Amino acid sequence: MKGSLIIISAPSGAGKSTIAGFLLGEDLGLEFSVSATTRDPRGSEVNGREYYFMTAEEFKKRVSDNEFAEWEEVYKDQFYGTLGSEIERIRDKGKNVLFDVDVKGGMSLKRLFNGQALSIFIMPPSVEELENRLTRRGTDSPARIKMRVEKAIEEMKLASAFDRVVINDDLENAKREVYNLVLDFIGD
Ligand code: ADP
Ligand code: 5GP
Repeated sequence: MKGSLIIISAPSGAGKSTIAGFLLGEDLGLEFSVSATTRDPRGSEVNGREYYFMTAEEFKKRVSDNEFAEWEEVYKDQFYGTLGSEIERIRDKGKNVLFDVDVKGGMSLKRLFNGQALSIFIMPPSVEELENRLTRRGTDSPARIKMRVEKAIEEMKLASAFDRVVINDDLENAKREVYNLVLDFIGD
């Protein structure tokens, strides 16, 4: 199906970005949906590539102008959202859209697009391993890691709302599993 939507959601640290990056490098006709966010750029992130970085004022204006397909306050005072224009931009090119969004956002997009969308939940092998990965990644302070782990425990309870759940224990296995699910879906 042309213009299919692939939604990848997971608790922070479960390996969603790693798996999304892998999928984008495969010949699946996928393009990444660049979200808007009010958080500051991290490391080598570039505006318009990883995110559209914007102020809280601009974000709120766009919310009131109904420009978002979905948006969430993912962390306190940190807003993230999918612009409707971003989905159109990618579909207009005849490509499939890949979303990397939080669990609630993934559920909203699935509700909105239903049969046009495949929603995949990436599950960490355990909460302990999730915390280890976040620590090893080295991008968040201990306080932020604690916040992310607490949120993860809540998000893991929502996995059954997704079309498919993939456990990311061995990364190569998880990549292969997700790849096959996507291929199967877009091939329909
Ligand atoms: P997310 O996007 O879900 O927050 P990342 O893709 O950034 O997560 O992964 C978190 C960290 O865990 C990264 O440093 C990544 O390299 C590592 N990682 C991902 N998958 C695995 C895995 N199966 N085993 C061990 N480490 C992993
Ligand atoms: P990070 O700050 O690590 O880039 O992202 C934090 C969380 O926000 C991740 O779970 C990511 O998937 C989520 N996220 C990124 N973009 C969006 C979006 O457009 N909508 C929603 N709901 N969540 C998003």
